[in-house]
Amino acid sequence: MTGKLYVVATPIGNLEDITLRAIETLKNCDLIAAEDTRRSRKLLNHYQIKTRLTSYHDYTASRDVEGLLALLEDGAKISLISDAGTPLISDPGYRIVALARKKGILVYPIPGVTALAAGLSVAGLPTDRFVFEGFLPAKEAARRRRLEALKNESRTIVFYESPHRLRVSLRAMVDVFGQSRGVFLARELTKRFENHFYGDVASALAWIDENNDRGEFVIIVEGRKQEVSLTLSEERALEIVSILQEDLPVKRAIAAAARINGVRKNSLYQLYLAKKNSSIT
Ligand code: SAM
Repeated sequence: MTGKLYVVATPIGNLEDITLRAIETLKNCDLIAAEDTRRSRKLLNHYQIKTRLTSYHDYTASRDVEGLLALLEDGAKISLISDAGTPLISDPGYRIVALARKKGILVYPIPGVTALAAGLSVAGLPTDRFVFEGFLPAKEAARRRRLEALKNESRTIVFYESPHRLRVSLRAMVDVFGQSRGVFLARELTKRFENHFYGDVASALAWIDENNDRGEFVIIVEGRKQEVSLTLSEERALEIVSILQEDLPVKRAIAAAARINGVRKNSLYQLYLAKKNSSIT
């Protein structure tokens, strides 16, 4: 009989942001492995969860991790939680989940909050494709190298940042991405002093000076706009689409404009979409 390891999401600020299933799972398991047992105690007391706590970090001694795995192999149900949000998302848990998987132990998510999704959901930046970069390196040269590698990234980019490095990171972004790159700052999500900024990176720095940099931040950076150079016939075809569109459904307008200008219908459709999403200026 093998046990179960539950990876349980907890709130990122507002204690009410926890699922009913998470509370039940934490109440009914044999042991909770927490990043910081003292911090987690506050949440557990709030929900009158009396389950025994032990500490777990990805640098926990191998002997202790083996101990947890042995309990699971003996049939125990263990919940893994971190200080906030979803474990393994810039938080401990990777090591034990990977080892449990290798041993064939069942691992289940009890999903809930993560600052990454909460921030993205209100940023107003494209979310159909995005990259999560976690924390930028603390050392200046490494931080700059990472940003340089992301300079031409066209997907929305999500970073976590600690308050004392927020300014240096934004300054480095101004240098590497340019001061007009769009950025969304989500400060203290779900908490009492939550506020947001959307604008260019240079203005984000001014906003931080006015609003102070205390609290937790998610930084969401607009992807680089693709520069597409249009041929003359594509340009004309797009103009014709916008005229025909007044009387015809879009797809028929595109088909007609493509025929008139001798361009391919599909590529005109892609250009039309790109223009609509304003990636062609
Ligand atoms: N596991 C967490 C999650 O699922 O979001 C992330 C933990 S990571 C150690 C902490 C970072 O997440 C913070 O430095 C900040 O960038 C972001 N974060 C966590 N809570 C936040 C909040 N309430 N508002 C804004 N950012 C937050």
